[in-house]
Amino acid sequence: MILTIDIGGSALKYALFEGELPEMKGELTLGERGAENLIKKICEVYDICSEAGRIKAIAIDSAGLIDSNKGQIISAANLGIDEPLPLCDIIGEKYGLPVYIANDVNAAAIGEMAYGAARENVNYVFVAFGTGVGGAAVVGRRLYEGKRGLAGEIGHFITHPNGLPCPCGRKGCFERYASVPALVAKAAEHDPSVTNGRELFDRYYAGDENIVKAVDEWMDEIVLGLVSITHLLDPGAIVLGGGIMNEKFLVPEIEKRLRAAVMKEYSNICVRGAELGNAAALYGMLFRANLRLKEGKNR
Ligand SMILES: [Zn+2]
Repeated sequence: MILTIDIGGSALKYALFEGELPEMKGELTLGERGAENLIKKICEVYDICSEAGRIKAIAIDSAGLIDSNKGQIISAANLGIDEPLPLCDIIGEKYGLPVYIANDVNAAAIGEMAYGAARENVNYVFVAFGTGVGGAAVVGRRLYEGKRGLAGEIGHFITHPNGLPCPCGRKGCFERYASVPALVAKAAEHDPSVTNGRELFDRYYAGDENIVKAVDEWMDEIVLGLVSITHLLDPGAIVLGGGIMNEKFLVPEIEKRLRAAVMKEYSNICVRGAELGNAAALYGMLFRANLRLKEGKNR
């Protein structure tokens, strides 16, 4: 069986797979921040799952900068990890098992490719909208990782020269305009009583003019980033993830606007909603673990 673990800012989600079916699923609150506690919690998950049968590999995804070849978390601000943590070696040596790690957005992109919205696509791009904007490109059914595994920082495309400052240290990054907080902030300019996405869409569906305008402008911001992706990669599809894309009108409307915004040779570009929701990363790690096992790699 393969144990997959998704490390989020406040909890570990896990699933134990026999073949393609989860034998066991669960969630463990992370509690404290920092490397020591994280390792302890991963061991707790292992103990829970090892009672259900023999585990032959562990596959972990996490937010932050991840070096998947070395099996390290380089840094993860939301986990309180600011120096490289050789997580795969630590866990792998403790249990004598292959241990794999990948960035959470990359893992979700692989999940959607293997089992979700991009099953039919050889080349596609995944873009996730949440607190920030993350992305990953799949080329020839494999993740395009770049020289050090850092490819896909779509959120830091510059869409507004000299625009809003970004925590990355530059100005005018795509995610400062296209993330969920960016949308909420835009709506709050019109109406300060809007503080979250749920409220915002309730008002949108009720036809509140100012909110409709904010959502409208936000979709145009998203299109700015997707235009560059389309022209760079001519992908078979762009899959949009993140809970906000559950608002069903968004994906077809963004597709329509994108088709009108790209060079005419690209105007059949296809945009789809993600299908696996917050399980995408776990499925992606299952796929990756099976691939790496087949290749005889233990990290
Ligand atoms: Zn940035």
